[in-house]
Amino acid sequence: MLLTISTTHTPATDLGYLLVKHPDRVQSFATTGGTAHVFYPEATAERCTAALLLDVDPVELARPSKGRKTPDSFSLGRYVNDRPYAASSLLTVALGKVFRSALKGASRDRADLVDTAIPLEIEVPALPCQGGADVVERLFAPLGWTVAATPVPLDPAFPEWGDSPYVRLRLTGTVRLADALNHLYVLLPVLDDAKHYWVSEDEVDKLLRAGDGWLGGHPERELIARRYLAGRRTLAQSALERLDATDEPLDDTPDAVERIEAAERAKPLVRLRKEAVLAALADTGASRVLDLGCGPGALLLELVADNRYTEIVGADVSSASLALAERRLRFDRMPDRQRARITLIQSALTYHDDRLKGFDAAVLMEVVEHVDEARLPALERAVFGHAAPRAVIVTTPNVEYNVRYESLHGHRHDDHRFEWTRAEFAAWVDRVCAAHGYTAELRPVGADDPEVGSPTQLALFRKAV
Ligand code: SAH
Repeated sequence: MLLTISTTHTPATDLGYLLVKHPDRVQSFATTGGTAHVFYPEATAERCTAALLLDVDPVELARPSKGRKTPDSFSLGRYVNDRPYAASSLLTVALGKVFRSALKGASRDRADLVDTAIPLEIEVPALPCQGGADVVERLFAPLGWTVAATPVPLDPAFPEWGDSPYVRLRLTGTVRLADALNHLYVLLPVLDDAKHYWVSEDEVDKLLRAGDGWLGGHPERELIARRYLAGRRTLAQSALERLDATDEPLDDTPDAVERIEAAERAKPLVRLRKEAVLAALADTGASRVLDLGCGPGALLLELVADNRYTEIVGADVSSASLALAERRLRFDRMPDRQRARITLIQSALTYHDDRLKGFDAAVLMEVVEHVDEARLPALERAVFGHAAPRAVIVTTPNVEYNVRYESLHGHRHDDHRFEWTRAEFAAWVDRVCAAHGYTAELRPVGADDPEVGSPTQLALFRKAV
């Protein structure tokens, strides 16, 4: 099982400093199921190649061991399998062990180079690849790699037998070495889709650590999480939720609450919006309500103060926001009867969540624009299809109004993935109604400018009966 990494960065032998392995030596390390060797087939100032060769001992691998899956329950399959030559999760384990400091982006002697994208060429001669060469492209190309994945024939002597499920992978790109190693660390086992060990919760941490800075924005993040976590749905969901949540700056300093409240007071629109939402909510006659994407709890404070709301659930993907909401609501000082009316839960609105089913009404106040447009249909299915409250109130900025904010360039908030015109919002509302059996009413919030409309737009959906 072989992996080579080459660079033409000059002097190319600096690769040895980055990998913390000297180009003049062959080094060997004991690892799961065999021995990993690191050596340099070429090491000149112009071009340097490091090779990681994993010599798998199938007999050792077949031996029962704690936490390890034997390759096959069929007895011969335990000895005769692709483990010795195909790049799999065993290679990843070796990579993680042998290049540990390079994966972390640490190099004592070349600290600057660690942060520099350098020309790299990576080859894996036999890469098992579930789903075909096309998947390789979808996984590596968005990360800036030029991908060549050539199917390996089953037997070159018998071309009529066709191709094996393996590809010869060649990646070229100008990438930081640490990033490149982390891409491989995550994506090789994703391509193999067959881990040699049982996957548990700490594997989520490993994935998020290795995926730091690139997995969150990867278009195939779901496929990656699902396969990396060996198809364990709840783990994959937890990884994706945490990826979403890390977009947000964590502010849990002692004065965070004061700062939030001061910022809210400074914006009259915040008050107008809350009032419009509360008025719409009152119109629905709801008593059991959801505040979806509740953030630090501005609306929850109003809801608990109003006794018509007998059950209030605040949900957000961000645990930092939920912690702030809890502080603002002063859970510690709330009488038991009050306390029993309100629950805070961590939930990602793009996933079905049974805890959100069967409510009278749900509010999504300034939330949809924080969700990637590509993920919006998933939110629609989860909220309008699965949770399916009798009424839903959605507010979002009206982008047409942005011209009235003189100092504003771009979106109103850094984390907004989009902002809609009135026509775009109306079209979305219509589509959701048609798909999920709701009727809706649009209401402007804030001064209704004759030219560009109101700063905020609100839709009140009611389940059609
Ligand atoms: N509704 C609050 C907060 C709006 S900010 C208010 O108006 O004050 C948007 C909130 O949506 C953030 O707290 C963010 O964590 C949350 N959010 C964004 N994407 C989400 C998702 N996919 N699932 C759950 N919450 C999400």
